[in-house]
Amino acid sequence: MSFPDIVPELKAKMPELRGRLLANQPLGEFTWFRVGGPAQVFFMPEDENDLAYLLQNLPAKIPVSVIGAGSNLIVRDGGVPGVVIRLGRGFNEIKVEADNRIAAGTAMLDVMVARAAQAAGIAGLAFFSGIPGTIGGALRMNGGAYGGETKDVLIEARGVNRQGAMRSYSNAEMGFSYRHCGVPDDVIFTAALFQGSKGDPEAIAAEMASIKGKREKSQPRNRTGGSTFKNPPGQSAWKLVDEAGCRGLKVGQAKVSELHSNFLITLDGASAADIETLGETVRQRVKAHSGFDLEWEIKRIGVARA
Ligand SMILES: Cc1cc2nc3c(=O)[nH]c(=O)nc-3n(C[C@H](O)[C@H](O)[C@H](O)COP(=O)(O)OP(=O)(O)OC[C@H]3O[C@@H](n4cnc5c(N)ncnc54)[C@H](O)[C@@H]3O)c2cc1C
Repeated sequence: MSFPDIVPELKAKMPELRGRLLANQPLGEFTWFRVGGPAQVFFMPEDENDLAYLLQNLPAKIPVSVIGAGSNLIVRDGGVPGVVIRLGRGFNEIKVEADNRIAAGTAMLDVMVARAAQAAGIAGLAFFSGIPGTIGGALRMNGGAYGGETKDVLIEARGVNRQGAMRSYSNAEMGFSYRHCGVPDDVIFTAALFQGSKGDPEAIAAEMASIKGKREKSQPRNRTGGSTFKNPPGQSAWKLVDEAGCRGLKVGQAKVSELHSNFLITLDGASAADIETLGETVRQRVKAHSGFDLEWEIKRIGVARA
């Protein structure tokens, strides 16, 4: 299964592009589930200007998607038409600034931001150590854990829209709510500035160790997409899934984790369709059992296999 190769055409249109464009790049390896089809075009921009240049010159009819660490993501088996962007080296800077602030590029892993804050004695960002995504994903998902959320610590983020225009968004302009960011979906975040408070490096290290310990006991740590469904107001999704008898449920080679019933895991030979069908089966059973409509937290991109 592959898409028509439009890379030569795009390269001809964008002679100043510096990042690499690849045709039909398999995406499974970039996701925690380790499954999914290819990107029609895969692009890793060199830096923010390179990203903006591509977006300014890419024909409007070509869709664009962005992926981070793929820790909350299903890439469907038929792959993703258009351009899939993954930020890399040029978006990996991290800087401790005055007044207990940290600036980070959005390709940086959340845990690296937590570690930099700990080393600098900046409290308030330790929760990032438990989220296995990038800062870009944390901004888009309002990632949070153990009482902290991205919205609590963000001062501002920068982003580039589909037309290639760059701008900053204040915390209020991000329109954050539970696992949601209100900035239009086409915006690709490139940088973020966080506010912490003065803390003791040893106490922060102990907090991070405690988060790690709790996670290791309660969550699968590979071939999963994290929380599958959002918690309905006042409810726990895992409990609703459990009560509907879905813990351990299997569809094809995808399974509801025995360890945490709001996590799905993939076994050898799984397809994205297995995961999605399993998720939909769980949703139906929960609806039938308790009446709740579970909403997917995991993002799904691409098309089903033809
Ligand atoms: C074991 C495990 C535990 C987890 N625990 C938690 C937890 O405690 N709390 C929590 O909140 N989440 C948790 N997650 C889910 C996941 O880690 C978070 O949602 C994370 O923020 C996703 O980041 P990512 O870089 O992996 O994004 P991806 O999964 O690659 O993408 C998720 C979404 O973010 C968008 N995105 C990614 N980068 C950018 C960017 N630069 N600009 C704009 N949009 C972007 C994508 O388009 C997509 O819509 C867990 C996942 C796993 C596998």
